[in-house]
Amino acid sequence: MTFSDIGVSEELKHALKFNKIYNPTAIQIQAIPAILTTTNDLAAVAQSGTGKTAAFSLPILQTIDPKSHQIQALVLVPTRELGQQVAREFFLFSKFMPRVFAEAVYGGTPIDDQIEKLKRPTHVVVATPGRLIDLLNRKALSLDHLKYLILDEADEMISMGFKSEIDEILKSCMPEVRKLLFTATLAGDVRKLVNEYLSNEVTEIRINEKELVNQNIENLYIVYPQGLKLDTLKSFLLERPDQRGILFCRTKIAAKRLSKQLAGFVVATDAIHGNLNQESREKVLRGFKNHRINLLVATDIAARGIDVKNLDYIIHYRLPENMEQYTHRSGRTARAGKSGVSVSFVQKEELNEIKSLETKLNIQFSALEVTIVPETQNGPPITIFMNMGTAQDFDNVSLKDFLVEEAGLDHAEIRNVVVEEHRSHFDVPEKYHVQIIANLNGFKRSHRNIRLSLTNSNAKRHLL
Ligand code: ADP
Ligand code: MG
Repeated sequence: MTFSDIGVSEELKHALKFNKIYNPTAIQIQAIPAILTTTNDLAAVAQSGTGKTAAFSLPILQTIDPKSHQIQALVLVPTRELGQQVAREFFLFSKFMPRVFAEAVYGGTPIDDQIEKLKRPTHVVVATPGRLIDLLNRKALSLDHLKYLILDEADEMISMGFKSEIDEILKSCMPEVRKLLFTATLAGDVRKLVNEYLSNEVTEIRINEKELVNQNIENLYIVYPQGLKLDTLKSFLLERPDQRGILFCRTKIAAKRLSKQLAGFVVATDAIHGNLNQESREKVLRGFKNHRINLLVATDIAARGIDVKNLDYIIHYRLPENMEQYTHRSGRTARAGKSGVSVSFVQKEELNEIKSLETKLNIQFSALEVTIVPETQNGPPITIFMNMGTAQDFDNVSLKDFLVEEAGLDHAEIRNVVVEEHRSHFDVPEKYHVQIIANLNGFKRSHRNIRLSLTNSNAKRHLL
């Protein structure tokens, strides 16, 4: 089956070739003709990574009227990253349609800039639900000429609690707007959404629904010895220094801490979690996309919608809360027909949870053995001097807390803390030398750059 066979126009095919996309995926083969040749609403179910974005963006671009300067399609997405990504596909695919414009609007960035942008001719708006409601309330856009309303990643929007926002938006659209829903599952409230809002003649497309987890993913688990989780992770990473992947934590704090603990390690790491502002998130994502970072430490929410090609592995550093999350996390690898591994870190007592994932998801796990090389403490602790003290609001307790939070140390590993007015020093095991520098280099406090050294003599200051 080719894109010509399913009715895709020449200018779009040209743009697809430009983006090295040559043949349609299963969901595209079914959804594109359904959108182009019927007027039914559509509910399309396919696993993550199977090309759902192009399944709606191509036929929408093909039926946009560039002469009308009205918004003709609205795509609702769960996260800003996904919004940017979907808008980017519209942009790439419309390369040879110079008069068609798509805009992404989402929270976390100034709304005024977005209001200005929407004053230009815009045919497609990609939006997160909250920001769209904000813009509607400010009358920054009109949905009166909408032809398509797309609910992308509907299951994630529901699981992130956007049901009432979606209700509100659907109610403010003309009832005859054509609705297209894309999701990885039709479970629970997503089914309700379909029944409630999609018209009776809805076309339902389901691809490989029985296969809850992409078959190109190899599911593995590592049993780590108590107290050696970080060492196990480092050993795992050292065995594949050239590979890339995403590691999942359950909380923002855990994600931040782990990336601090990996600072200076041979595998370049950074973290993305909800406590970062938009600018920092984008910086981290760019670093990951352009291979400056090989391991991205992420929380479940922050990682939604990230589409980075050719990831070799996914790590569940903590098991996910439920099986849907296992599917979402693992779906970040083995995208677009590639293969990948999904590795769960567990203790012996958690093996029953692996068994339960096997049954619920109908998949098989295999054990992965890692030879753990614990970092041994050789030599006496080192004393580190820092150019900050009580004048920068440090005392013995807050200095320790600072080192725990910003350098990824454990309280118990920091000894003999002495804080004076403009300087302080403390003892740590020698193995933390590199980690501390990597984390604190360039750090500012009270408008002062932190400087660290291994001696307190200014004359022969030996900068770390
Ligand atoms: P989903 O929404 O189903 O999770 P995406 O639409 O994000 O998946 O697509 C996953 C990746 O596959 C994207 O990088 C996209 O560019 C790529 N892709 C989409 N369609 C095709 C195709 N027909 N052939 C090859 N790659 C494709
Ligand atoms: Mg998608």
